[in-house]
Amino acid sequence: MAAGGVAAGDVVSVLGAAPLPNLTGIDAVLVDGHPEPRPAAELNALAALVEEGASLVAVGAAPHAHDDFWTRLLGVVATDPLPDGEYFAKLAGDRALTRRLETEWAVQDRVETLAIVAGTAEPVLVVNIGYRDHVVVTVAHRGRGRVVTSGLGLSEAAWASLPLRALLRRALAPAHPASDRDLGLAVVGYGPFGGMGYLHASAARAVPGLDIVAVLDPSDARRKAAEADWAGVRAYETLPELLADDGVDVAVVATPPSSHAQLAEALLTAGKHVVAEKPLCLTVSEADRLIALAADRHLTLTVHQNRRWDQDFLALRRAVDGGLLGELFNVETFVGSFEHPCRHWHSEQSVSGGAVYDWGSHHVDWILQLYGTPPARVTAHGHKRVWHDVTNLDQMRLRMEWPDGREAQFVVSDVAGIRPPKFYLQGTRGTLAGHYRERVFERIEPGRGFVREPAHHAEAPVELDLARYESGYGLISSRLPLAKEQRFGFHRNLADHLHLGDPLAVTPQSVRQVIAVLEAAQLSATSGGRPVDVPQ
Ligand code: NAD
Repeated sequence: MAAGGVAAGDVVSVLGAAPLPNLTGIDAVLVDGHPEPRPAAELNALAALVEEGASLVAVGAAPHAHDDFWTRLLGVVATDPLPDGEYFAKLAGDRALTRRLETEWAVQDRVETLAIVAGTAEPVLVVNIGYRDHVVVTVAHRGRGRVVTSGLGLSEAAWASLPLRALLRRALAPAHPASDRDLGLAVVGYGPFGGMGYLHASAARAVPGLDIVAVLDPSDARRKAAEADWAGVRAYETLPELLADDGVDVAVVATPPSSHAQLAEALLTAGKHVVAEKPLCLTVSEADRLIALAADRHLTLTVHQNRRWDQDFLALRRAVDGGLLGELFNVETFVGSFEHPCRHWHSEQSVSGGAVYDWGSHHVDWILQLYGTPPARVTAHGHKRVWHDVTNLDQMRLRMEWPDGREAQFVVSDVAGIRPPKFYLQGTRGTLAGHYRERVFERIEPGRGFVREPAHHAEAPVELDLARYESGYGLISSRLPLAKEQRFGFHRNLADHLHLGDPLAVTPQSVRQVIAVLEAAQLSATSGGRPVDVPQ
């Protein structure tokens, strides 16, 4: 049942010939594939449920010839499926279900095109075949309910299409009251270009449905910079001024880490949705307090784990989720160089939380995303040997163990002159490595001559090499292409969530587990490398 992946909550699936379950309290019905004949009483109960307000989504379920019940309910008749191939789906007609989706995207599928029985349904998506648009998704309103029929989603591969998943997930969910006005976003801590304040303000201007309206920063220079960068922005010096601004719906906490928990708490208490920069906070107990407060106030709390959208990580995750490595049992990641650590707050343990919290917020998040569950135990070993003017350790190595024997390692280092791979993954069917590349920009500048600018090694996506073992043959090596860029993917999801109720990509619970590992690692590294159990 491929389409099952889009169903959540109180959804009943109509499959095969099994009798319908009790429909009391059911909000949504998923008909996945051609329905078997059913007794009239069952069909009437289904139609009545929709009339009373339920959503029905029929995937690959439209009748191929007129059918008294299904043609009347869905309002369409389907053609035979087209050959499996890549088609381009394009938005058409009804916009309520397709708000904020890309206007056109590729989908690999066997497509059923739909003929609408005059006046009974409206097109939602079309595909262009032979220079003509053919309807492939329709919507029909039946009483207080809604019926969406899809001629896409027939093959397993089609569910790799994120817009198709989003569309059908929305079709199953109860209608969300959509607001048309932009949500006012405030940035708390307006770090310059290269820091995060500027990035969040840029994203809010670029992503439809959000706008940068306010900034809070104790620094005069940073407030002036914000006013110069973003016309109309209100720049505040103190927190109470921002909390009292009713035009702020969502606030991004982009200050140094040790202040995140307190600021997030004040913002949630004042009724603002909160995005925390990574790390969300420094301890699990702080994470638990924030999660409970957000839930209590019915507010969104999320964390800017933007590196879940990195093109190399997305490609790697696609390989793992697609089973190319078999069962994953070891993940190792690395970030670092041999150079003097930066001399700002990032290297001061009392503000940063410790060396593991900076890049570790991303690397541990990646590892947990790949494994799906947190480790049971963390052992961390630190070195303080070279850089004595900063308080963060020079190097930390975290070993993570799962109860079933799976393992992972993350190393962050300021004393590594030769870099191990960024990613090294072992599965039962293959191995994947992602190697850092030196990125140097060279140019001749008038009046200056030759200019050489090395980029930070961890910014550029790495090259991903996969070696798969085939019995009786050997290793087959390949280079994985990077995933497509999803610019401001985090902020787009935030806006989709706040405007339309789409699922939040970065749930605070998923980040709580990251914080639990980071806190355990910091404790282990500063107490002689003893193993520390991770609170689940
Ligand atoms: P930064 O030092 O460049 O900027 C921080 C800003 O916060 C400064 O302008 C400072 O004046 C202001 N500030 C300090 N305390 C404040 C307070 N109590 N209230 C309001 N403003 C205050 O720092 P940055 O590099 O932008 O990092 C900020 C956060 O973003 C950190 O948590 C860091 O870990 C995170 N970060 C995330 C990524 C990412 O990829 N997601 C990348 C870099 C930094």
